Amino acid sequence: MAHACYVCSFYPVPDGEGVECPHCHRLQYGTKCPRCGQNAPTRVKDFRVFCTACGFERGALSGNGIAMPINMVGKPSQFGGIATRVLGTAGLAVTLLLVTFVTIAAVAYSSTILGALAVLLATFGSVAAFLLMRGGKKLQQQGERAQHDAREQAVAAAAKARGGAITAAEAAAVLEVHVAEADALLTAIAKEGARAHVEISNEGVVKYVFHDAAPVHVAPTTAAQPVTGVRVDTQTPVATSQSADPKQVAQQRVDREFEELKKTRAAKGD
Ligand SMILES: [Zn+2]
Ligand SMILES: [Zn+2]
Repeated sequence: MAHACYVCSFYPVPDGEGVECPHCHRLQYGTKCPRCGQNAPTRVKDFRVFCTACGFERGALSGNGIAMPINMVGKPSQFGGIATRVLGTAGLAVTLLLVTFVTIAAVAYSSTILGALAVLLATFGSVAAFLLMRGGKKLQQQGERAQHDAREQAVAAAAKARGGAITAAEAAAVLEVHVAEADALLTAIAKEGARAHVEISNEGVVKYVFHDAAPVHVAPTTAAQPVTGVRVDTQTPVATSQSADPKQVAQQRVDREFEELKKTRAAKGD
């Protein structure tokens, strides 16, 4: 089964846990919900799987397929990354200690062999520690990215299930995080402007209103093939009067934002 990307509406994105959209490269979670019809991440409670968007029970945890609950997405990578970095730091400390001892011994006994050993230890130890720390950092970043994308997908789906709008408190309950954290995520999405904006009701309640992404049309012949990501975008929307289709202009803006996102992610080394 496949679905349209929750960010850019690119079709098809295969169902599953952590599947990357070939167009905007967002990671997507969950299979289609039978009640709200959305591909939304799941939440696990008492060994049963629920839809984060509408709360519908999707079945038992041991049922069909692997469910990655929203509060677990990215966590193994984040923990693994931190552990690897700690290991790297410890490795560096041990190397430093060993090199110091061997150097002292080399000086005390005027031994060239011990001196050479100290140099070798210092080289291999620091290279190993560096690799561990770099690998750990990368793993941690992957985990953070997965968590961010899953949370975005969950709040967007939850907003749609609530008629298009969601408050920070509601999003916090969906994501099982503090309201401030949910508010920061929603504010970031609203700031991007393409998918949501802020509305304040007469009662002073701040709501985040989600709109549908401009659809990405894919010709049937290219739909089956993976998109390689080569695309030509005009930096300035075509300003001629006959082509000022607001949908097209919006699409171009979304495309540019994705390109920027891709660049920042590439720069981060993902
Ligand atoms: Zn996409
Ligand atoms: Zn649902």
